[in-house]
Amino acid sequence: MSENSQIVYLNGQFMPMEKAYVPVLDRGFIFGDGVYEVIPIYGGNILRLEEHLNRLDYSLEGIRLANPMSREQWKDIFHELIRKNANGDLSIYLQITRGVAPRDHGFPENLTPTIFAMCSPLKPLASHFTTTGANAITTEDIRWQFCNIKSTSLLANTMLRQFALDKKADEAILIKGTNITEGSASSVFVVINNEIITPPKGTCILPGITRDLVIELANTNNIKCTERNISVDEIKSCDEIWVTSSLREILPVTTLDNLPVGSGTPGPIWKKTYALYQDYKQKIRAGSAV
Ligand code: PMP
Repeated sequence: MSENSQIVYLNGQFMPMEKAYVPVLDRGFIFGDGVYEVIPIYGGNILRLEEHLNRLDYSLEGIRLANPMSREQWKDIFHELIRKNANGDLSIYLQITRGVAPRDHGFPENLTPTIFAMCSPLKPLASHFTTTGANAITTEDIRWQFCNIKSTSLLANTMLRQFALDKKADEAILIKGTNITEGSASSVFVVINNEIITPPKGTCILPGITRDLVIELANTNNIKCTERNISVDEIKSCDEIWVTSSLREILPVTTLDNLPVGSGTPGPIWKKTYALYQDYKQKIRAGSAV
């Protein structure tokens, strides 16, 4: 699916990507005043749709914007996008901004929000990630105090990811005080003595849908899993590190700040959990899971 043949949704209409334009005074463009979601589709079936729509509601509430669509309307848009675009695994990106208005910081009243959604192919992880693992660095979490809102204002996250890329790393793992929070675009897990640990939900992290699914898979498969703070000392001496997200699934981090993590190869608990995740995706494809 090339970008040019892609059909996208913008403000009530489906159209080719190259026909989709937003006015320059859109508050998404001017202020980053909007929220978004990224939702994986396997074999035409949507992963954790209700959870993604719950998080969307939560993000919209967080920026005081009413949801412009009912759940049924969102589902119709997603299914139409899937139908109009290529088969195979996809991700849906959707964004809602406060709309178009003269530039002024305060929220204007009675604005029509801008609603945009598109589909992209969901590529499998590059094979070196699952064989040798990923490389991460740690760096200070320079973001704001509402990281639980999935806001389109992502300048700090993009700077942090670029900081990692500049150091030839795949992800930046963020430090706030003496603890780690999450990655620049991912949730973080560590394994210590066969126990999976991930930071608790709160305003310092985005409540990752993949994170919750990994916890659920661990709990239903007798893998001990705890939600608690992880100190910088712990992440530097743990057995395994993973970063999770809808697009990168469960990525084993085998080098942190140029030092090997555990054995320096993807660990046994990652292998088990990754296999469970792949089985789960198959169930989504078969329509026997959500
Ligand atoms: N944290 C941040 C900051 C992210 O950007 C993402 C991915 N968008 C995640 C966590 C993971 O969320 P999810 O599992 O829902 O993709």
